[in-house]
Amino acid sequence: MFDVAQTFFSSRTRPEFSVVVPAFNEAPSLAVFHARLRSVMDKLGAWEAIYVDDGSTDGTRAVIEALRGGDSRVAVLALSRNFGKEIATTAGLDHASGDAVIVIDADLQDPPETIPALVAAWRQGFDMVNAQRRVREGETRLKRASAHMFYRLMRHAGRVKLPADTGDFRLMSRRVVDAVAQLREQHRFMKGLFAWVGFPTTTVLYDRAPRHAGETKWNYWRLWNFALEGITSFTVMPLKVATYLGLVVALLSVIYGVEVVVKTLIRGNEVAGYPSLMTVMLFLGGVQLVTLGVIGEYLGRIFNETKRRPLYLVEHYASSSSRVDAAE
Ligand code: UDP
Ligand code: MG
Repeated sequence: MFDVAQTFFSSRTRPEFSVVVPAFNEAPSLAVFHARLRSVMDKLGAWEAIYVDDGSTDGTRAVIEALRGGDSRVAVLALSRNFGKEIATTAGLDHASGDAVIVIDADLQDPPETIPALVAAWRQGFDMVNAQRRVREGETRLKRASAHMFYRLMRHAGRVKLPADTGDFRLMSRRVVDAVAQLREQHRFMKGLFAWVGFPTTTVLYDRAPRHAGETKWNYWRLWNFALEGITSFTVMPLKVATYLGLVVALLSVIYGVEVVVKTLIRGNEVAGYPSLMTVMLFLGGVQLVTLGVIGEYLGRIFNETKRRPLYLVEHYASSSSRVDAAE
């Protein structure tokens, strides 16, 4: 093939827009998605679409290659295995060259028809345009409630303000993309990273549609881990809570200790109090274990970061046409 590095750095005409689409087992949606994307983007200017195949097992790669065969503005970026949406998105951003980059899901939950509104806000001078869901259709009440709680918790715990009801669907200016590209942490909580870089930000409302086909890859275990990731990569609040919990418990035990000593002095030792002893022991044991667990969560993340592994490995990359032309 051609030399990726050479292509990457050679001067060429950049498309005005890059659309980054992480896709994991989205074969049934992609053709419909691309058709809708194309009819929207053609009205906006020069563009490319970077489809990131995140180690799919259902022929997504073949569908993307076919799309590229029919439309030279399509770039194929196949990762060596499934790395997860956050990293797939990062890989797409790394390969995007547009002045503005749009990140959008492949399952048509983020309607491409919203993109012109995002672009309009960008043209007004905003660097970051978040698409905020007006309704969350096709999602259970439990998922909605847990999402709500998570955003509230993050708002109170962290210094970075996360916009509520915002997914990864957004538009970023070139300088925001370059800024995000500098954040190479392994534990990628994208919403947090996007919020961390700052720059003039605005929000556009849209209606989130139900999935076009297939099903969500987010079960509750994954969502829980996602929330943990968000909290631990953006706040040290749990560590603080552990500290204060420890202080409170220590204080209470001192008070209780004094009470025990005084009682013994007054009434002598009656060797009673097995239940209270048990309660206190179990309680303290529990507090210690939880606290250790909290420390462990952070320690594990430190461990992962110190390995300094690359975020992802590319199995195959074929750029959109503007890139290839420039390399030749
Ligand atoms: N996705 C991905 N890698 C994964 C899981 C998901 O690239 O490991 C993509 C998926 O193909 C879709 C987007 O991320 O384009 C959102 O995934 P999903 O629809 O499962 O999440 P939800 O919309 O339920 O938040
Ligand atoms: Mg989805």
